[in-house]
Amino acid sequence: MTLETHPCFTNGCSDYARIHLPVAPNCNLQCNYCLRKFDCANECRPGVSSKVLKPLEAFEYYKSIKGNFAKLTTVGIAGPGDALANFEEVYKTLSLIRAFDKEVYFCLSTNGLLLPDYINALKAVGVGYITVTVNTLNAKTALQIYDCMYLDKQKWQGQEAMSFLLARQQKGVRKAKALGIKVKINTVAIPSVNTDEITDIAEWAAGLSCDVMNIIPMLPVAGTKFAKLPALKQSVLQDLRKSSSLYIRQMLHCNHCRADAVGCLKKEKGFEKT
Ligand code: SF4
Ligand code: SF4
Repeated sequence: MTLETHPCFTNGCSDYARIHLPVAPNCNLQCNYCLRKFDCANECRPGVSSKVLKPLEAFEYYKSIKGNFAKLTTVGIAGPGDALANFEEVYKTLSLIRAFDKEVYFCLSTNGLLLPDYINALKAVGVGYITVTVNTLNAKTALQIYDCMYLDKQKWQGQEAMSFLLARQQKGVRKAKALGIKVKINTVAIPSVNTDEITDIAEWAAGLSCDVMNIIPMLPVAGTKFAKLPALKQSVLQDLRKSSSLYIRQMLHCNHCRADAVGCLKKEKGFEKT
């Protein structure tokens, strides 16, 4: 397992391909930049929605597509919701694929709330790459970014809940690294909310030996709390990436793919939504 042969953890676009399997419709968080009828905006382009597959359908789809790509190295789960809020479906999908294909990398993205609970099982089923979205290390800022989280069938709000969420994200990242899993940190840059904290997140991620960071400019989406925030200026994004790169390698080739994307990053496609 190398960073070079994973299409997203390597530097720049390569010939290596990934397939996203959209088996995770539910989410346990409400980010104030996300409209849940679309794919998870922590990983995907806002305003795009992917059809959801059952684990067996996803397995059949993987088998049908594998032969089309000589360099298909990676199966990823990136929504449409949070991978770990749909753990059963994700685990079943990956187990089916692993019994059929011993080599393909497994990769998933999560908001991190449930990561400490599932990290050992993820390692056991063969997950080698995880993306965790960390938008702040500060509970007061988290109060602005997240409306609420759902845990144990209850809705949680307020600073204590936000401290809990951040602690879980950080614990999950530490545990993933301790198990030898490659970790990418996604950070959504939200103008006037967390842009002053992003270099601190980069320093923190480097301190835990995370492998790469992907700073994603928030795109304001109508119908969300952050709809009226201005879009992030390109120059600010470049400055954030430059200052963060002093601590950790930056991903500069993210396509903000849909949750059903397939192919190499230059030539991606998703299957048609029905
Ligand atoms: Fe949306 Fe993803 Fe946030 Fe869930 S974790 S609310 S799907 S952006
Ligand atoms: Fe890779 Fe970015 Fe696409 Fe995720 S959204 S598969 S990190 S290019």
